[in-house]
Amino acid sequence: MAVLDSLDLARRLIRCPSVTPEEGGALDLLQEVLEGLGFRCRRLMFTAAGTPDVDNLYARLGAGGPNFCYAGHTDVVPPGDPAAWRHGPFAAELADGWLYGRGAVDMKGAVAAYLGALSRFLDARGPDFGGSLSLLITADEEGPAVNGTRKVLDALAEEGETLDACLVGEPTSNERLGDMVKIGRRGALNARLRVTGVQGHSAYAHLADNPVHRLVAMLARLTGEPLDEGSAHFPPTSLQVTTVDVGNPTTNVIPAEATAGFDVRFSDRHTSASVERWLRERLDAVGGDYELTVRVSGESFLCPPGPLSDLIARAVTSVTGTPPELGTSGGTSDARFLKDFAPVAEFGLLNATAHKVDERVSLADLDALGRIYQAVLDGYFAA
Ligand SMILES: [Zn+2]
Repeated sequence: MAVLDSLDLARRLIRCPSVTPEEGGALDLLQEVLEGLGFRCRRLMFTAAGTPDVDNLYARLGAGGPNFCYAGHTDVVPPGDPAAWRHGPFAAELADGWLYGRGAVDMKGAVAAYLGALSRFLDARGPDFGGSLSLLITADEEGPAVNGTRKVLDALAEEGETLDACLVGEPTSNERLGDMVKIGRRGALNARLRVTGVQGHSAYAHLADNPVHRLVAMLARLTGEPLDEGSAHFPPTSLQVTTVDVGNPTTNVIPAEATAGFDVRFSDRHTSASVERWLRERLDAVGGDYELTVRVSGESFLCPPGPLSDLIARAVTSVTGTPPELGTSGGTSDARFLKDFAPVAEFGLLNATAHKVDERVSLADLDALGRIYQAVLDGYFAA
């Protein structure tokens, strides 16, 4: 059994220009490497009207249970202006102990670290390690996530395929590798508020109804009190106004409408329905005509601390010397779909440069993450 070089694999993955929803050669590369390790690989292509077609990879080694699944994505967000980067976003260059490139931490580096760990685990244990190993890798996590992980899980469930534990390799570490394992995620809801009034001359305001004044009052209500105080594993729900638009070039016209946008990240004290109710109560209290459009990208969820998070915490501690915090901060991820199929926890690289110019991973972290992942596998399949 060949042992894989994680750094080499990470560089080859970064060189695949797999901006969502492009596969970009990244899934082909993973498939080739996994088949070399003895995995049976399947590609699942999904389509839906109004969304891009998406290629997904499910790979499994072994037939018996338990089935330990590693989930992740090979798609990346666009690099923006390549000239703003110190090193080309798809060049995978090494400098001063860092590997640069889009996806270095989110999350091609983690996928490569996991494959390295997998190859060392199999090299040491052979094929009779007492269960199955699987990988569920999508090319649409950073996009609409309609034809990705969610549909793969539905297809697998229909075939009777079961996952017994799921480790998602998203970049969860904040200040140093291993300081956080995520056991849930906040919910996310995006809203657009349109307030309509009656246009008129600002000198004859009694003949008009100024929607800007009501919009300002509404936003003051929404931001004037907290939605909740958070809970044992969640920070308080956060509502952030992201835009206020009137677009009025005149100085003497009361506009007919005004709009605003805001983003709510909510704890497990709320559901998207209860957030929307909370919003409408406060908007109604101000009164007048308004229209609220809400788009929910995920409900909040918590996989309470248990055997999987304990195992990951022990693996982190064995390599870094410090136990991780079990948290729920940050954005959404595909863990929101996986949690309906198996216990799930997320652990990966530092998120400091994710989605930014000069995204990069330190070679020391890439190596340490691989050792942590290997300790997870050793612990899960302990004889
Ligand atoms: Zn990611």
